[in-house]
Amino acid sequence: MEEKQKVVNKILEYGRTLKVTKFEPTLNPEVNKLLVDDPNAFLFGVIFDQSITAEQAWEKPFILKQRLGHLDVKKISEMKDDELKVIFNEAPKLHRFPNKYAAYIKDACKMLIDRYEGNAANIWNGNPGYADLQRRFELFKGIGQKKASMATNILIRVLRKGVGDKSESNISFDIHVKRVFLRTGLAKTDDKNTILQSARELNPEDPGELDFPIWDIGMEKGWCRPTDPKCDECPIKDVCPKIINERK
Ligand code: SF4
Repeated sequence: MEEKQKVVNKILEYGRTLKVTKFEPTLNPEVNKLLVDDPNAFLFGVIFDQSITAEQAWEKPFILKQRLGHLDVKKISEMKDDELKVIFNEAPKLHRFPNKYAAYIKDACKMLIDRYEGNAANIWNGNPGYADLQRRFELFKGIGQKKASMATNILIRVLRKGVGDKSESNISFDIHVKRVFLRTGLAKTDDKNTILQSARELNPEDPGELDFPIWDIGMEKGWCRPTDPKCDECPIKDVCPKIINERK
């Protein structure tokens, strides 16, 4: 446990150097502004963020707005399914799975109208805790644990929305996060629930604080790549046991 704690401390130390204060997931300032100014665009970005790169996903609400001329959830929810599919299938397609994501967005619009007065800000207004906020996101079709906790972490840590009990926070499980957990020995089993539980045990006051630095270390452009990891340059190289051959 002492060894693991050293790794955790080093990861947290690295995380504090990242100081992410702005939400800028794309290189286009207009796109980033829309995501911050329009809560519905933010929610759509969360939904799109699957099976394509994160940067491509977060650009999609902006492109959808250009194609429709608006992001009016009432108008979108009243569109015929085929009509919306045509917009999503226009070249270049809005997603690898355009019909599926057209249905997710239409469904999200209906849910925003039914539960949140048509405004996604009402999902996080009123300072819900981490767990509540994550559960609210998970009720949208197309949003599972990873995307719900990612959205919650961005809102609370970067956009400063809502104030929750940090002990309820979570890491966003994906292949990059999993790889770092296994190679650093923070988890011994390649299993989502085991890894989520490990994060809770290793940093019980704020498990989600581990999320961004671990993702940053494990992503394709980071150090702990699937192949040819750059251990010599990795910010946690001094404490990592580098269990690379046993577990990818
Ligand atoms: S890149 Fe190497 S040192 Fe860094 S986390 Fe991965 S295995 Fe450990």
